[in-house]
Amino acid sequence: MNYSRSSALFAQAEKVIPGGVNSPVRAFKAVGGTPIFVKEAKGAYLYDEDGNKLIDYINSWGPMILGHAYEPVVHAVIEKAKKGTSFGMPTEIETQIAELAVSMVPNIDKIRFVNSGTEACMSAIRLARGFTGNDKIIKFAGCYHGHSDSFLIQAGSGAVTFGAPNSPGVTQGTAKDTLLAKYNNIENVKSVIHANKGEIACIIIEPVAGNMGCIPPKNGFLQSLRDLCDTYGILLIFDEVMTGFRLAKGGAQELYNVNADIVCFGKVIGGGLPVGAFAAREEIMNYLAPLGPIYQAGTLSGNPLAMAAGLAMLETLNNDTELFNRLAKKTEYLHKGFAEVLSENNISHTINRVGSMISIHFTEDQVIDFETSAKGNNETFKKFFHGMLQEGIYIAPSAFETWFITDALTYKDLDATIAAVKKVTSKF
Ligand SMILES: *Cc1c(COP(=O)(O)O)cnc(C)c1O
Repeated sequence: MNYSRSSALFAQAEKVIPGGVNSPVRAFKAVGGTPIFVKEAKGAYLYDEDGNKLIDYINSWGPMILGHAYEPVVHAVIEKAKKGTSFGMPTEIETQIAELAVSMVPNIDKIRFVNSGTEACMSAIRLARGFTGNDKIIKFAGCYHGHSDSFLIQAGSGAVTFGAPNSPGVTQGTAKDTLLAKYNNIENVKSVIHANKGEIACIIIEPVAGNMGCIPPKNGFLQSLRDLCDTYGILLIFDEVMTGFRLAKGGAQELYNVNADIVCFGKVIGGGLPVGAFAAREEIMNYLAPLGPIYQAGTLSGNPLAMAAGLAMLETLNNDTELFNRLAKKTEYLHKGFAEVLSENNISHTINRVGSMISIHFTEDQVIDFETSAKGNNETFKKFFHGMLQEGIYIAPSAFETWFITDALTYKDLDATIAAVKKVTSKF
C-alpha cells in the first residue's frame, strides 16, 4: 500500500504543529515511519488520504465501540447542532445522560461531566484530597491517568521512595505527593501505605490496565485494594476511562464485583466527542462546588453536542443486552486465531485479553505489570506493526497499547486479520 499523501500531509503539519500531531502517540515515534492521515471512517474501516481502506483496531483509542460514524450518534449530533452548539447554561440533556449513567454504573449517585479523561482523573484526585484532607496519592507504574502533573510520574527504584517527574515541567513538589506501587502486587501496595500512614488520600488504578498493553488484575487484587482502603480510610478510585461502558454496562466495577469510591470516565461515554466524567456516592460528590468547597468547573462541560453523542451511545449500550457478550466472543475468536498462527510460526508471544480489550506481547513470559510488559521485544513489534499496515490493518503504533474490538467488525474481518498476522509473522 502507498502512503505518500499521508507523508506529504505530515510534513506540512510538522511546520505548524509540534511533531505534526496534537497528541504524541499518533506520531509513530515508537515504530518509525510517518503517521497515516484519515479522510473518513465508517463501521470497522478507516479510509485514508491515499485511498487505502484499513481495518481499524484502535477506534480512536476506545470510544468507537460500535464502529465509526454510528448512525444514531451522528444523527443526534446533527440535530443538536442545528439548535445551538453551546450555551454555558443548564440543559435538560445533561440530566438525561446523568440519570442513564447513574442507572448503568454500580455504586454511584451523582456524576459530573468534563471534557476529557485527563480532566476527569485530575478532578477525581482533587475531590479525594478535599474529602479526606490528605495530600498523597498512590498510582501504579505503567498506569495512565491522563497528562495532568500528578500522574506523569515514572516508576522509581523502591516503592516507598518519592516519584521523580518524568516530564520536565512537573515540579518536585507535585511529584513527591505521588507514590508509586506495582500493579498486581498487593504486598508492595501495603508497604507503600505503611510508609505513609495517615497521609494518603486515594489509590487510583486502571481496574484492567490498558496503557501497558492489556493487563488483567490478578484474582482478588482489586478486592484486596478495596479492603486496604477500608482499613486505612483511603478512597479507591477506579480510572474507568478505558474500561467504563466497555467491559460491561457497569464497567470493571460490575465485571469484578468490587466497588470503587470514585469512578472516572472518558472515551466511550462521549461517543467520539470530547467528554469525560467522574462519579461517586452522594456524600463524596456533595463536596464539589457549588454545593461544597472543592472547586471544579468548565465553560464547555456538558456541551450539548457532546451530551447528545454520549446519550445516543449509552442508550444503545443499555438496550442491547447481547452487545458485551458479542464483543467478548469476537475478541476470544481473535485470541485463539492469533495464538494458533503465532505458534505455527514459532513466534514467542503472550496474549492478554479481557472483554473487548486484547494485546499481543512478543515475550514468552507472563505479562502482569509494567516490568514484564517492558520485556516484550520492541524490534519484533515494529516489524509486526509495519507488516500489518501493509496488509491494511491498523493497530496502535506502540507495543504498550491495547487493541479495541468493535461491534462493527465482522468475522470476515477477524479472519482477514488472523490471516494477516500469519503472513506477516511467517517472514520473521
Ligand atoms: C485515555 C485515558 C485517559 C486520558 O483520557 P484523555 O481523554 O486522553 O484525556 C485517562 N485514563 C485512562 C485509563 C485512559 O485510557
